[in-house]
Amino acid sequence: MNIVPDMRSNLDLGLTWRNSFAQLGEDFYTLLAPQPLPAPYWVGHSVSLARELGLGEAWRESAELLEAVSGNRQIAGTQTLASVYSGHQFGMWAGQLGDGRAILLGETSDGMELQLKGAGLTPYSRMGDGRAVLRSSIREFLCSEAMQGLAIPTSRALCVTGSDAPIRRETMETAAVVTRVAPSFVRFGHFEHFSHSGQHAQLKALADYVIDRFYPACRTSDKFSGNPYAALLEAVSERTAIMVAQWQAVGFCHGVMNTDNMSILGLTIDYGPFQFLDAYNPGHICNHSDAQGRYAFNKQPNIAYWNLFCLGQALLPLIEAQELAIGALESYKTVFPAALERLMRAKLGLVNLDDENSRDASAHDRALIEDILKLLAQDRVDYTIFWRRLSHSSAGTDTEAVRDLFLDRPAADAWLLRYSERLAHIPRGLATDLMLRTNPKFVLRNHLGEQAIKRAKLKDFSQVDTLLMLLESPFEEHPGFEAYADFPPDWAAGIEISCSS
Ligand code: AMP
Ligand code: MG
Repeated sequence: MNIVPDMRSNLDLGLTWRNSFAQLGEDFYTLLAPQPLPAPYWVGHSVSLARELGLGEAWRESAELLEAVSGNRQIAGTQTLASVYSGHQFGMWAGQLGDGRAILLGETSDGMELQLKGAGLTPYSRMGDGRAVLRSSIREFLCSEAMQGLAIPTSRALCVTGSDAPIRRETMETAAVVTRVAPSFVRFGHFEHFSHSGQHAQLKALADYVIDRFYPACRTSDKFSGNPYAALLEAVSERTAIMVAQWQAVGFCHGVMNTDNMSILGLTIDYGPFQFLDAYNPGHICNHSDAQGRYAFNKQPNIAYWNLFCLGQALLPLIEAQELAIGALESYKTVFPAALERLMRAKLGLVNLDDENSRDASAHDRALIEDILKLLAQDRVDYTIFWRRLSHSSAGTDTEAVRDLFLDRPAADAWLLRYSERLAHIPRGLATDLMLRTNPKFVLRNHLGEQAIKRAKLKDFSQVDTLLMLLESPFEEHPGFEAYADFPPDWAAGIEISCSS
């Protein structure tokens, strides 16, 4: 299938392009051009990412680039394609999926792939229209850069362009295209695709490609000597464990952890109905389409393991020995809790354990963490505000602002007393410094996104810019922007975000 958008000369962005994924051969994708987006306009753009990619400072002023990132101009040197993958969705084998609305442009000389999401129909669009709407595109753009600001592994977003072209979802909306950037968009589902369809030569080619490009150490692993595929499974398990630990620590709920939305690089990808927790509710379900709560906040760590198990099954024809695959997956069970504990201790400013009593201190610290999470859940305390206030309070003795957040003041006081006794063993400045670098002041709360989207629909993109500015450096105070770090308004609880986007 070939949709040819524009026969004008190819646009030269001054970048050198490759497309190593394309070298895998046509079993892996369909070559095709994006579908033109009528009369596009800029919605948002990341100056910092543009700089990293080596696009000139004036790129945002370029009318030609606007056309290029909307899918209306071919970029010289690119080989555009949509890839095929499969996956488990909500626990069920869903068969063949694929890039139903994302088109890979290629890879820059620094090894960053650029993809246009919402760029039109592909052979994998199934019942979809190949488009993305403004609302979800702004959410994906802002959240990608917010995660980057939080130092959580993620695909990036260079820009969003919009159009007045109508798109039907639950209501009529308008179209947009996000330019996503990542070293690779290969998913667990790519492996499942070739494994489940018995295309084992392609499965091996894909695994070799991923190992050579991203996990070269797997070829020389001592633990799995001679079995780079088992080593790959272990390496992916570890990266995934670290990513999910970061989600849990910051209060991020992905919402659609299907295996086709899991990155082989352990990046957060496919931002849909995600949410940063407001009130701390461990069982929170952010996806309105997820009636059973399969992807509830506190289920994420187990779901990630379940997904890794699917990846392990897909890799079994290459790993060959089942015990090796199971051994590789085991690492998740140690890496995840260790990473989460390290992050939670950092949230509390617990810089170091006392050498002599480290085992006791560690058990004590674990109890401190468990107990505060219980209290936060019991009183539905705002998660981000609690940690930020605690960070500030650690610098002095004033805990009023923290205890104000709790209904059960005696319980809060008792915990705060234990905590202050523990902190007394740590140099004050160190703890506070660590906490202020670990507990963000700004997260992309649903209501903030909604407000920016509402204005963007009226072609006022100032809130997109403001949020991007705050979320790129979420640990800074940004005086004058207190409102963006405040409690959510009552109406925030009524925001419903579903899979449809
Ligand atoms: P998601 O839940 O967004 O990860 O999407 C699951 C699958 O459906 C992927 O293969 C997507 O490419 C595809 N898809 C989602 N929305 C659309 C759409 N509007 N048009 C075509 N394909 C879509
Ligand atoms: Mg997806």
